[in-house]
Amino acid sequence: MYDDMRDPMFDDVRDDFADPGGRSALCAATKTNPRNLSCPTCGRKRVLTRRDVDLGYQCDSCADRAERGCD
Ligand SMILES: [Zn+2]
Repeated sequence: MYDDMRDPMFDDVRDDFADPGGRSALCAATKTNPRNLSCPTCGRKRVLTRRDVDLGYQCDSCADRAERGCD
């Protein structure tokens, strides 16, 4: 296994955020981690990457709603 957090050769699989400095916690889409999955909460298509789903994330809209606590 590569330590892809530290190896610049594997820059495109780093655990980057999609929106650095923003509020989104979603992972950046890459060749190996394309944003092609639906949100489990609202069903919007192509809003999450495989890694996001593995981490149990939902899309930005749903995450916003959950954070604000008004559903
Ligand atoms: Zn959603």
